[in-house]
Amino acid sequence: MKVVCAWCQDQGRTTVLREKEPFDRPTISHGICEEHARLFLEEVRETKTAVPALDRRGP
Ligand SMILES: [Zn+2]
Repeated sequence: MKVVCAWCQDQGRTTVLREKEPFDRPTISHGICEEHARLFLEEVRETKTAVPALDRRGP
């Protein structure tokens, strides 16, 4: 089976991260590529710093 990046797939790309057993079956498993892992971590960091600003705005 192939392990593809779920984020890349959302963008219409197919990034195969690796192949794992069973090699003879065309099944797909999802993972995250290095590029998207980095983007994801940056996003989380930005979200954390943005929270106090959102609180200040109030209802
Ligand atoms: Zn990706």
